[in-house]
Amino acid sequence: MVYRYDVVVIGAGVAGLNTSWVLAKKGYSVALVESKPREKIGDRACGDAIGLHHFKELGWMPPAKVLNGKYKGVKIVSPSEKYEIYVYGEGISVDSHKFGQWMLKRALDSGIELLDKHSLINIVVKGDVVESVLLKEFGKPGLREVKAKAFIDASGARPALRLKLPSNWPIAEKPYITDYNLAYREVLKLEKPIGEPDKHFAIIYLNTDIAPGGYWWLFPKKDGELVNIGLGVIWGREGYNPRHNYFRYLKDRVKGRIVHRGGGIVPTRRPMPTLVWRNVGVVGDAAYTVNPVHGGGRGSSMLAADIVAKYIANALEKGEVNEYTLWGANIEYMKAYGSKQAGLDILRMFMQKLGNEDYEFIMEKNLVSGEAVYDIGTKGGLREEIVKSLRAMIALISKPSLLNKLRIVKNYMEQARKLYLDQYPRDPDMLKQWMKDVEEFFNKYRAIIGFDPGPKVPW
Ligand SMILES: Cc1cc2nc3c(=O)[nH]c(=O)nc-3n(C[C@H](O)[C@H](O)[C@H](O)COP(=O)(O)OP(=O)(O)OC[C@H]3O[C@@H](n4cnc5c(N)ncnc54)[C@H](O)[C@@H]3O)c2cc1C
Repeated sequence: MVYRYDVVVIGAGVAGLNTSWVLAKKGYSVALVESKPREKIGDRACGDAIGLHHFKELGWMPPAKVLNGKYKGVKIVSPSEKYEIYVYGEGISVDSHKFGQWMLKRALDSGIELLDKHSLINIVVKGDVVESVLLKEFGKPGLREVKAKAFIDASGARPALRLKLPSNWPIAEKPYITDYNLAYREVLKLEKPIGEPDKHFAIIYLNTDIAPGGYWWLFPKKDGELVNIGLGVIWGREGYNPRHNYFRYLKDRVKGRIVHRGGGIVPTRRPMPTLVWRNVGVVGDAAYTVNPVHGGGRGSSMLAADIVAKYIANALEKGEVNEYTLWGANIEYMKAYGSKQAGLDILRMFMQKLGNEDYEFIMEKNLVSGEAVYDIGTKGGLREEIVKSLRAMIALISKPSLLNKLRIVKNYMEQARKLYLDQYPRDPDMLKQWMKDVEEFFNKYRAIIGFDPGPKVPW
């Protein structure tokens, strides 16, 4: 028997849960396909911290029962732990499992059909569109064929659907392994709760011995009684293993009972060149919508989900689902977040070349203020007056090489943002040339800063 829906969404993480909810609310029939059993949805490794501004942009807030506290901002700590920067901006900590279950209920209440314990195994492409997906139900023989007018891949950092598409579709693009961080974290019930003022801040430690190409974090939860502690390292550099480093450097630092532990991969790069092609959309980690510098991906996953779902709904209404009718999703996402990611991708690679001495120097000399970090975090670039004061300070301490590097990074960040904003293709026919320009631009930048991207991902 063949099943039919308007839309099939693969993956019930925050991206898939939000996409399916938005579409079901608009009256479309939606199947949400998820490998895990229903009760495990939401149960995944995450730092659990989300900037409040994301929910303001989405126009809804999760209920208090799924929250584990609020943050006043982020505290960044130097490698020696002598220097600190406070970056103010509110955030929340969620109980990931409860948050996922709440999002699931919201989607179910709006009429989605959940196919849990079902994994996407293959796809059928006919006449240049995806006609159906083939699903395997856990413990049952055979495959179930599910047809739809549109398909959305929300299956996470190793995309299940997107990578089965014809390789000449630009939505099937593969990244470099260094475009990912490998991360591991534990949630602990502390023997000694975290006190004032730290319990109000998500704390980020810069230390390239512990977390090379990433950072380690300590995010208090539940008024300092719990902590989410973990680290991320760049993937693809020999000997870098987050779990190994966790046990070597962090395990004895904070004493407590393990409530949850686990790891995962995080795409820390600019977004996919296109989030839509033919009758397929891609959202969340599957589309690399994560912030390349801090690795936060939940807010932007849901934002991408909102945007792509809206354009899919409009295209379904017109009765024509293809890259032309869906193209506005790209323009809107790049404007809202993607162009910022592109700028931050430039900064990310530069930061991954820095060592503890560099970070210590930058923080000791107060070269970067909380205001500057906030600017970078929210806009993906620096205001001119901040750059001017930075230049003046660096000139004073006579480090011309740093000044020069900073100038290069700032220029490339601006150009990258423009590439994904003003120069982003107005229609799909211009995409191929633009992708070539982007590749050349990033190759040139990598060569200038001496960043070896390594091979492409093995899948
Ligand atoms: C250790 C760690 C810490 C992090 N910390 C933070 C943080 O503090 N704040 C933040 O905002 N972000 C953080 N992130 C990133 C954030 O968790 C992700 O960006 C976000 O959860 C991505 O959501 P998603 O819905 O795109 O993907 P996922 O949550 O990965 O969901 C994908 C779903 O698809 C399902 N699936 C996969 N393949 C198939 C298949 N073949 N068939 C059916 N289903 C399938 C999976 O089971 C999964 O449920 C962290 C990530 C990690 C690994």
